[in-house]
Amino acid sequence: MPLDLYDTGLAGGDDSGAARGWPYISILFECCQVYARIYRRPDDDRYRGRCPKCLRPLELRVGPDGTPARMFRAR
Ligand SMILES: [Zn+2]
Repeated sequence: MPLDLYDTGLAGGDDSGAARGWPYISILFECCQVYARIYRRPDDDRYRGRCPKCLRPLELRVGPDGTPARMFRAR
């Protein structure tokens, strides 16, 4: 039987969002001066990710009116 690569449940690392077509934003983690993308699950109301260097977790809430910005800084 062939494997269904899109039916992997809820598990997955920080990079799994790209393959699933989840919306993402680019963010500058000022703690380490490094850019990264964080993803939002379709059924979630916020973006979740972590700094790729020091692994500091980050959540970014999305309001109902949203924001046109796609670049953010994490302080
Ligand atoms: Zn960091």
